[in-house]
Amino acid sequence: MNATPTSSDLAKAIRNIPDFPQPGIQFKDITPVLADARLFAGCIDLLTTGFAPGSIGAVVGIDARGFILAAAAALKLQTGFVPIRKKGKLPFKTFEESYELEYGSNTVAIHVDAVKPGARVLLVDDLLATGGTAQAAAALLKRVGAEIVEITFFVELGFLNGREKLREYPVRSLVLY
Ligand code: AMP
Repeated sequence: MNATPTSSDLAKAIRNIPDFPQPGIQFKDITPVLADARLFAGCIDLLTTGFAPGSIGAVVGIDARGFILAAAAALKLQTGFVPIRKKGKLPFKTFEESYELEYGSNTVAIHVDAVKPGARVLLVDDLLATGGTAQAAAALLKRVGAEIVEITFFVELGFLNGREKLREYPVRSLVLY
């Protein structure tokens, strides 16, 4: 079967790991999708749907699984990749934003010169849970002067209402739980 994968094909390949990394969390493991060339390519095709190559100034990915998807999406859209990393990892001058996570808390950072002011960017992460991570990432992009065209997730845990925190942006996800 060589047809282009649908989001339901992708959903079937996502592995649920109960109680990881701590009791009560249903961890959505996307590594089976990444390991399958057809599914991985299909995932990137669906993530970049609606955007023409050359129409986006940069694809921004969130540490760490977001990097995998965002870097591939950037190549597909013939644009650059920009990382938003966990605090203390980026070598140059940074902006930082802190937020609460579904499990614990975190601080993310971006290089102050990561994107050109006014650049139209696509923000990509593997999963939307409470929305804190993406909200902090969006705040960082605002500080560097980027315009967020869309925030795109592979997976969304809809019952956590993460979209509420991202109301001011267009948000899209491929697989909804
Ligand atoms: P949040 O800030 O609550 O929206 O959490 C989203 C971030 O945490 C993403 O970068 C995910 O990689 C990770 N994450 C949170 N919950 C899960 C989960 N149930 N399965 C996999 N990753 C998760």
